[in-house]
Amino acid sequence: MSFTMHGVGVSGGIAIGRAHLVSHALLEVAHYLIPEALVPQEVQRFNDAIATVRDDLESIRSQLTPNAPAELSSFINTHLMILADRSLSVLPAEIITSEFCNAEWALKLQMDDLVEQFEKIDDDYLRERKQDVVQVVERVIKVLLGHPSQVPVEEQESAIILVAHDLSPADTIQFKHHKFAAFITDVGGATSHTAILARSLNIPSIVALQRARVLVRDGELIIVDGNQGVVVVNPDKDTLAEYHLRQEQFELEQQKLKRLKSTRAVTLDGTTVELLANIEVPSDVTKAKAAGATGVGLYRTEFLFMNRRDMPDEEEQYLAYRKVAESMKGLPVTIRTLDIGADKEINPDTVRTCTNPALGLRAIRLCLAEPLIFHTQLRAILRASHYGNIKILIPMLSNLAELRQTLQMVERAKLSLQKQHIPFKQDIQVGGMIEIPAAAICADAFAKELDFLSIGTNDLIQYTLAIDRTDDTVSHLYNPLHPAVLNLILNTIKAAMRAGKEVSVCGEMAGDPTLTRLLLGFGLRHFSMHSAQILAVKNQVLKSDVPQLMHSARKILATQEIDKIEPMLQKLNLS
Ligand code: PEP
Ligand code: MG
Repeated sequence: MSFTMHGVGVSGGIAIGRAHLVSHALLEVAHYLIPEALVPQEVQRFNDAIATVRDDLESIRSQLTPNAPAELSSFINTHLMILADRSLSVLPAEIITSEFCNAEWALKLQMDDLVEQFEKIDDDYLRERKQDVVQVVERVIKVLLGHPSQVPVEEQESAIILVAHDLSPADTIQFKHHKFAAFITDVGGATSHTAILARSLNIPSIVALQRARVLVRDGELIIVDGNQGVVVVNPDKDTLAEYHLRQEQFELEQQKLKRLKSTRAVTLDGTTVELLANIEVPSDVTKAKAAGATGVGLYRTEFLFMNRRDMPDEEEQYLAYRKVAESMKGLPVTIRTLDIGADKEINPDTVRTCTNPALGLRAIRLCLAEPLIFHTQLRAILRASHYGNIKILIPMLSNLAELRQTLQMVERAKLSLQKQHIPFKQDIQVGGMIEIPAAAICADAFAKELDFLSIGTNDLIQYTLAIDRTDDTVSHLYNPLHPAVLNLILNTIKAAMRAGKEVSVCGEMAGDPTLTRLLLGFGLRHFSMHSAQILAVKNQVLKSDVPQLMHSARKILATQEIDKIEPMLQKLNLS
């Protein structure tokens, strides 16, 4: 039966493919077929992952001090025994060979089987050991996801559409290893980090569909129109043909935009605009360069900390940051310090303990409360700064005391490197995110003490309007054009200008081509967004005349009525 669902399109484009129902990312891994010729390679990948996990566990065991609790070593021994069991270390390889499936899938089949057997056990203690099986399998899957199979993209999940009730950012970041055609979820807001990641993957996606996960069945043919927020399940022949046509048109437009890659972003009146990229992982740099980004305006480092039990140490972080700095070849790379918390949990299974995580111990508050973690990250960033044009960006500042404490931490990290004669950029710039209304109102004070400002509109809107950015039930109220939001943005831009400091917007507003002119009219010259949006925004910049926009932007700002702003903006975009 064919039917249509409506949600909120958070990443444009049209995808047509088969539904794959997802309940939980780490254990609900993708299933795809491996061409026969690549099966031995896939088996090798599986065996390598098992060996890596065995080495890891053995090395943890060897590092245990004699006075470590006895439970710890028995816990590791249990995990090593589970890993060595034939059902996990041998049988999945046989499944890969007989079913031509990917290693993660084979392992998951075996795990499900084992868990089922454990559940039948009467003894409570033994039954609970199934958790250990799950943890061991998670470890192996984590390693496998870090080394994706070499199956050509067309032959794997290019036409798979993920259908989930919800996806956390930690779930979604794993999709960077596998190419899916689209994803749709029942819940979620347009600027939730899950939606942001969909944009960064440049695949169509729709959130807030309410009941997609229960209505769609595995393997059904679906159309995802991310531009309109429409999903068609089991389309008839005519609808399918119509969407194939729309898909071609959309792709044609994207191709046209690609011609702008090397064109400088200069307005009609000669104003130069910097279009920078937002990235989550070092490999995103490839897309940033392909889109002609003039730097990285926001590197969300928290994704390096996700889906793992340990913290990345200084060396691992340093290598990741250095890689980005080197591949950007002297262009600015703005590394934001850890912004964990709220909807960005490190692990999808994290049980929330605070009542209101968006207002809790997140971002810089967490870093100042955990100085060791912060110190490690600052040292890693500083060390990497020797190899490129790195700047430091501090998230979620709300008062000057916090800022000063942070600057002291930066000095401390510098001093520790100096003592060890480790090189770093002495005059590295430190900027702050303006994303809490308090900071936007007091932007003058922040501009004086920082080297640059970056406006995080995603959180600024959330906190100004008291709308949870991840909650679809109030997403209709999440409005970037609310006069209060616009006033705070303008106030921040003006404060930076008065202090002679650079200011950018790195929230999703910067990547929305319908807002480019308004922001140009407010005086903004630095826009940071996901690479997929850069060319569409550049297209707007090239057609804009700043002096004329300034006049219209002022008029829009003077309007206190939210309903009048939308038509005024439309007029501005047509002028
Ligand atoms: C923002 O809040 O606008 C921002 C860029 O940061 P994040 O989306 O990572 O919270
Ligand atoms: Mg933010």
